[in-house]
Amino acid sequence: MRRKLVVGNWKMNGNRAANASLLAGIVAGVNASEASCAVCAPAPYLAQCQDALAGSPVAWGAQDVSAQPGGAFTGEVAASMLADFACAYVIVGHSERRAYHGENSELVAKKAVAVLDAGMTPIVCVGETLAEREAGQTVAVVASQLGAVLDLVGERVAQIVVAYEPVWAIGTGKTATPAMAQEVHAQLRAQLMAKNAVAAETVQILYGGSMKPDNALELMAQPDIDGGLIGGAALKAADFLAILHAAN
Ligand code: 13P
Repeated sequence: MRRKLVVGNWKMNGNRAANASLLAGIVAGVNASEASCAVCAPAPYLAQCQDALAGSPVAWGAQDVSAQPGGAFTGEVAASMLADFACAYVIVGHSERRAYHGENSELVAKKAVAVLDAGMTPIVCVGETLAEREAGQTVAVVASQLGAVLDLVGERVAQIVVAYEPVWAIGTGKTATPAMAQEVHAQLRAQLMAKNAVAAETVQILYGGSMKPDNALELMAQPDIDGGLIGGAALKAADFLAILHAAN
């Protein structure tokens, strides 16, 4: 039985004051026996997350990382630096990184390996655009995105988290129906199975894309949906907690 996992992706939102009240609200409402949860904050606020969340059931993480171990890469953040702030998770390959920063699946795979090498868990995002879905390419697109990562992580497949985020559902209010999402999640699970059948049983596959308190329950009731990667609704403690409660 896989434990559910609910992760907030704050994206490029927040400031010290707003983060302080959001983090305090989450800590006040979280219950240690619930599903696992984490917040992925902008890099400058990871120290603030560590201060606010250390000792609580809420983990924290980053939204991106360099594939390089360190050195002359101006503006980049190394996995070892994120580990230095006790990050548990790092999102890699979010569709916004792929679309606006030209990240391809080979780079995403290298980032996933960098995260594993630093002792953290990569949350590997995959998902098709609306045009790809309408062209019947959903399965091929997500299989190739996940496949690049599986090729590189080798036997460490049990140590990754996968997030299926259909691009057309992100920030749009359009959610994949539970059946649509489950179909892709089952496909991703089958791909994991082909790589390592034992590991595939334990890998959490999260759904992301307009997950809200009112649709979280039915999405997470699907057999292969093991939690959520939450954007907009993660910026309000009450909404984030409602989704977390739905994960139980
Ligand atoms: P929304 O929940 O705002 O649609 O964002 C989803 C997402 O991109 C999480 O990574």
